[in-house]
Amino acid sequence: MLFSAWQFVRREENENRLALVASELALRDVEVSCPGFWARLVEITPNAGWVDFDAHGRPDDKTSLSATTCRGLERVWRRDQTSFTCLFGGGCDQNTVRAVHGIVTLAHESWHLRGIVDEARTQCYAVQTTEHVAARLGVSRRDAHLIALRVAVDDATAPHGEYHSPECRPGGRYDLYPETPDWPTG
Ligand SMILES: [Zn+2]
Repeated sequence: MLFSAWQFVRREENENRLALVASELALRDVEVSCPGFWARLVEITPNAGWVDFDAHGRPDDKTSLSATTCRGLERVWRRDQTSFTCLFGGGCDQNTVRAVHGIVTLAHESWHLRGIVDEARTQCYAVQTTEHVAARLGVSRRDAHLIALRVAVDDATAPHGEYHSPECRPGGRYDLYPETPDWPTG
C-alpha cells in the first residue's frame, strides 16, 4: 500500500509539473497523463505521446505520454539528468537520449493541444520550441540551446514524410519567426 501511495504521489507531481509547461505552450489549461505502475507493466504502445481530436478537429484538454516519455521528462526536472554535452561530444547513454526525446515529445503534444493537427507542422513547431521547453524544465540555458541545436540538425536531416516537411527551415512556411534568419529558435 505504501509503495502504491508513494508511486501515485510521484506520478501526480510529475504530471502537474509537465502540465505547467504544456499549458504555457498550448495557451490554455491542459493536463498531462502518465501511465500508472500497473498500466506501465503492460504498456505496449510504441507512441511517445498522443492527443485525441474530436470530429470537428478540436483537441482534447489532455495529452497522454508513454511511460518512457514520462520518465525521461521526470529525470530532467528532478535534476537526475543534468548534463547534455554528450549531444555534441558523442557517447550519450540511453537516459540522455530518452530525456531529449521526452522534451521534444512534450513540445510536440503541446502544439497539438494548441490546435495544430498536421504532424509535420506540429513537429516543426516542436523543433523551434524545444529550447524553451527544456529551459522551463530547469535545463541550463546553455544545455537547452545545445539540445535545440542537436534536435534541429536531426530534424533537418530526417527524410521528408508525414513528420518532416521541407517547409521546416528558416524562412519556410513553418518558420515561427520568418523575419529572423536564426534557427531553430528565433
Ligand atoms: Zn503528433
